Amino acid sequence: MSLSLSEKAKRVKPSSTLAITAKAKEMKANGIDVVGFGAGEPDFNTPENVCNAAIEAIKSGFTKYTPASGTSELKQAICKKLKEFNHLDYNENQIVISNGGKHSLSNIFDAILNPGDEVIIPAPFWLSYPEMVKLSDGIPVIIYGEKGQNYKVTPEQIEAAITDKTKAFMLNSPSNPTGMVYSKEELEAIAKVIVEQDIYIISDEIYEYLIYGDEKHVSIASLNEEIYKRTITCSGLSKSYSMTGWRVGYTASSPEIAKLMGSIQSHATSNPNSIAQKAALEALIGSQDTVEVMKQEFNKRRIYMFERMSKFPMIEIIEPKGAFYIFADISEVLKKSYKENQINDTQQLAKILLEDYAVAVVPCEDFGFSQNIRLSYAISMESIISGLDRIENFLNILS
Ligand code: PMP
Repeated sequence: MSLSLSEKAKRVKPSSTLAITAKAKEMKANGIDVVGFGAGEPDFNTPENVCNAAIEAIKSGFTKYTPASGTSELKQAICKKLKEFNHLDYNENQIVISNGGKHSLSNIFDAILNPGDEVIIPAPFWLSYPEMVKLSDGIPVIIYGEKGQNYKVTPEQIEAAITDKTKAFMLNSPSNPTGMVYSKEELEAIAKVIVEQDIYIISDEIYEYLIYGDEKHVSIASLNEEIYKRTITCSGLSKSYSMTGWRVGYTASSPEIAKLMGSIQSHATSNPNSIAQKAALEALIGSQDTVEVMKQEFNKRRIYMFERMSKFPMIEIIEPKGAFYIFADISEVLKKSYKENQINDTQQLAKILLEDYAVAVVPCEDFGFSQNIRLSYAISMESIISGLDRIENFLNILS
């Protein structure tokens, strides 16, 4: 008999960004005008037609359990979207709808990993991937996309990391935190390695609609039949439809994997929220106008931030092509002193910016890069201007 706790749970790293976010919230509550570049969600309201569909669902009594892996009507709408937008053929029995993209990803790892299986994750990565892999008894294997290669990894790097324990490669394009987008040619080269080595690829495409300029979203599963068989495509409505709180994500995979995920989910959470499923249906089949409006607004902010921050001293950035983040290399700043103390790391820099300049940024140690910070442009243009003024003032004191 013992009251000890789960070793696995204890190994999960708490998010280092939480401390900064909590402090920023506290400062705001105390009336301080904090500019929060930490936002991981669009600052727009959920489109009205989507909200109305949810109200209608409640009024008409669509408030009970649904099938564990989601309703047939929503699965059909997802198949249609996958066909038209992603050029992918999937049937209803290949779709699993879950409580957010995060839940979809955790189902995937639970469905494919056995203890000790390795998942190759390119850094910089979204901080939840390695923790999720560990929770599913897998081992995250990190490879690094260097700045000189726009923070993307090469097929050679992937191949070199593959062992007889490798189960999957984790792809995220457009990327959180870098905003980089893999081109069709780059994806073809990656697909070749995946097929040759016969491993799975998990393609997290949650930012697929948020791509700017000439760049185009390509779903790796659409490249050929062999890669299609090995891909588990994952997406959701949180980012594109500003529906973070509704919790709707989905996967498209082989029917075998979908069946496993459906079973896991049936015991873990029963089904995705019935009302949110009705809202998601309207989001997918209703007018897409607001998606475009949000994207144009993000693009304006992206251009402004990129142009201004490119001129900042001691900070190096690469033009982001998707999502809503700027990934800034601040290694030069970390060599400087502030108030007669050396700035040791990004955590400390974030603390100084927050406490003395009322600007919240995300230190990227937990994204696999200890010399970088992430700034989100999912905040108003007015806030962006004010926040960048403050950061510029700080940098000017250092130089
Ligand atoms: N993937 C990536 C890369 C993300 O940035 C996020 C949200 N931060 C998610 C998945 C999950 O989004 P959600 O669970 O809100 O659908």
